[in-house]
Amino acid sequence: MEKVYLACIVARDGVSYPSMADILRITGDPSHDAHHVRSAASVIRSGGIVALPTETVYGLAADALNPSAVAKIYEAKGRPSTNPLIVHVASLDGAKDLAATWPPTAQKLAEAFWPGPLTIIVPKKAIVPDAATAGLPCVALRVPSHPVMHAVIEEAGTPLAAPSANRSQAVSPTRAAHVLKSLGSAVDVILDAGTTQHGLESTVVDCTVVPPRVLRPGPVTIAELERVVGRVKADDAVIGDELSRASPGMSPKHYAPQAKVRVVPMAKLAEAITSSDAPVAVLLIGGAVLGTSATKVQMPAEPVAYGAVLYGEFHKMDDAGMKTIIVEEPPSAPGWEAVRDRLRRASA
Ligand code: AMP
Ligand code: MG
Repeated sequence: MEKVYLACIVARDGVSYPSMADILRITGDPSHDAHHVRSAASVIRSGGIVALPTETVYGLAADALNPSAVAKIYEAKGRPSTNPLIVHVASLDGAKDLAATWPPTAQKLAEAFWPGPLTIIVPKKAIVPDAATAGLPCVALRVPSHPVMHAVIEEAGTPLAAPSANRSQAVSPTRAAHVLKSLGSAVDVILDAGTTQHGLESTVVDCTVVPPRVLRPGPVTIAELERVVGRVKADDAVIGDELSRASPGMSPKHYAPQAKVRVVPMAKLAEAITSSDAPVAVLLIGGAVLGTSATKVQMPAEPVAYGAVLYGEFHKMDDAGMKTIIVEEPPSAPGWEAVRDRLRRASA
């Protein structure tokens, strides 16, 4: 595809950004969108990188079977070469084509949650290059449900390696504007389809062990996994050194905005505000904090809705120049694991 350089684009949310990337807007008009999907797929087939929406966050996609294309993802993100990528395929059969063995738990989970925000780790076949798995003998696989992502995989005719479309360790993008802010001209094309649905990265489950082990909590909750495969191993204590060895890339610090994040119980909010670097923003679930000049944001009291807007708030607070983001500690009730995990890493 001929590349058109634009000096400035206006993203779907109405904000202007300087950019060297092509921004292709998905409008819902099938013939118009099919053209953009073909453009993105042709960039991918020729070894380029494309930022595109998934149902979790925006991804930065390349041909997973092309090591030099995969290398461009690491370079654009500044991602350590030890951190493996998730490989996205169009179907369960497409996943099995890349797996050396397909454990019964992988089958059950795939049937229950694909297409959707669940990543399954299984032993890899030799056709999956070491570049995509950071040299590990296993590959992380997912069938995404987002129609644009799905269409690009089909059109490209190859599995897509796609981590989140942001600089390594930063907050994942939930809009095209976030991709531009973080990666700018490092990407060839950005497909803009508005705000992503879940707003948090996929649940990652290692199916090479019995019982399967949750390496990263996400939109598919522990309770939902357990309804399908019985017990899964998932405890907060594995996050840290042990988990970093099992799953390189799950470092304690990740998903962090520029502002310092502090997670604080409700009773200590007022004290935290006065002892933090200003300007301060507070993400609240419960009641208002009286008598403070801090910027207050009322967050949803339900974990799915909370997760969907969390990164958007982080991006907004960074754009507004906040020095500290104080987050009212969310409940420890089931279903909040993914939100609590991301807040723990954002504040590490
Ligand atoms: P991200 O691309 O940022 O969504 O992160 C994907 C995460 O999935 C990585 O950071 C790893 O922790 C995990 N992962 C991906 N591939 C593998 C693998 N082959 N084995 C273990 N963990 C993996
Ligand atoms: Mg990421």
